[in-house]
Amino acid sequence: MPRPIQARIATAAIRHNYLLAKKYAARGGESVKAWAVVKANAYGHGLLRTARALGDVADGFALLDLSDAVTLRDAGFRQPILLLEGIFEARDVHTCAEYRLTPAIHCLEQLKLLQTAGLPGPLPIYLKLNTGMNRLGFTFDQIPLLRAALERISVLGEKTLMTHFSDADGERGVAWQLARLDAIRNAWPEAATFPVSMANSAALMRHPATVRGWARPGIMIYGSSPFTETPAARLDLQPVMTLGSRIIAVETVGAGERVGYGGTFVAEREMRLGIVACGYADGYPRHAPTGTPILVDGQRTRAIGRVSMDMLACDLSDLPAAGVGSEAVLWGEKLPVEEVAAAAGTISYELLCALAPRVPVAEV
Ligand SMILES: *Cc1c(COP(=O)(O)O)cnc(C)c1O
Repeated sequence: MPRPIQARIATAAIRHNYLLAKKYAARGGESVKAWAVVKANAYGHGLLRTARALGDVADGFALLDLSDAVTLRDAGFRQPILLLEGIFEARDVHTCAEYRLTPAIHCLEQLKLLQTAGLPGPLPIYLKLNTGMNRLGFTFDQIPLLRAALERISVLGEKTLMTHFSDADGERGVAWQLARLDAIRNAWPEAATFPVSMANSAALMRHPATVRGWARPGIMIYGSSPFTETPAARLDLQPVMTLGSRIIAVETVGAGERVGYGGTFVAEREMRLGIVACGYADGYPRHAPTGTPILVDGQRTRAIGRVSMDMLACDLSDLPAAGVGSEAVLWGEKLPVEEVAAAAGTISYELLCALAPRVPVAEV
């Protein structure tokens, strides 16, 4: 018998959530399209599995690794593919041309690679503008250099302006970044005619002014809310990944006994503990404290003590019917991943992406 841990991926939910993203996109006009962001192995859900679930409905796929883009092409996907960080060396330019990939260009070094590559034909590019995230992209001050560099490259196809919001889900919102984008477009008349790509999931759902050109929804496709205060279900998002396992042992500990590494948890009274076959080597966060919610046989209980590499303990004191073989859900169906993430001091993105390769995946 293999270890009982398993991640179940609801492929119909991927499709439902992407189509919901498309509905939000349509509020910006019929022509607005949506990249399905499938970076980081589709946020841990499997690149090809996710692409197949979206099949014909996806307008395009956005990801980071050239090799992943080639994988999608070799699997027969014909939609546009956006490389979110663009190219890293000269030969990448030719791979882009050969496989019809659209690189995002965020620095002058990448433009140099385009210029010297001797491209056979026009290559569409995204121009990444830094409007306040201060991570990648050209700033307002760099626009003259950018324009001069673009003029030296003869074989460019369509150019799209791209920017990314740092606080679309938070208090600062997007207006200040949109103002900086407008400033760039005002100072660069030709660019005012370029298509734009701005909205991540949070902006797509919350800030209609960003919904133009090509939106870039990621987390919402995987059924998780980008807003800490709004549960996914209230947004009509369906959970995609359910991480499940089973209780493999039951312990009864007396008052004063400590549980797990470091003995960080002290039992106040006699307790029944279930040991779940899931640990940080499976992708469960080690920093999830005592109290992090877990479902056992569909009932909510709490994690106890430190998470080990292959196991964690949970409280069965109020679940007398639960025992060895009982089902444990770490997150997913009936236990939103956002809630587990919040208890562990992180966000759903990190938990989903961290699903370990050793965890078997089943499509449901
Ligand atoms: C990851 C990413 C997205 C998707 O963001 P979500 O918050 O998951 O919707 C969009 N654009 C860029 C540039 C990204 O890196």
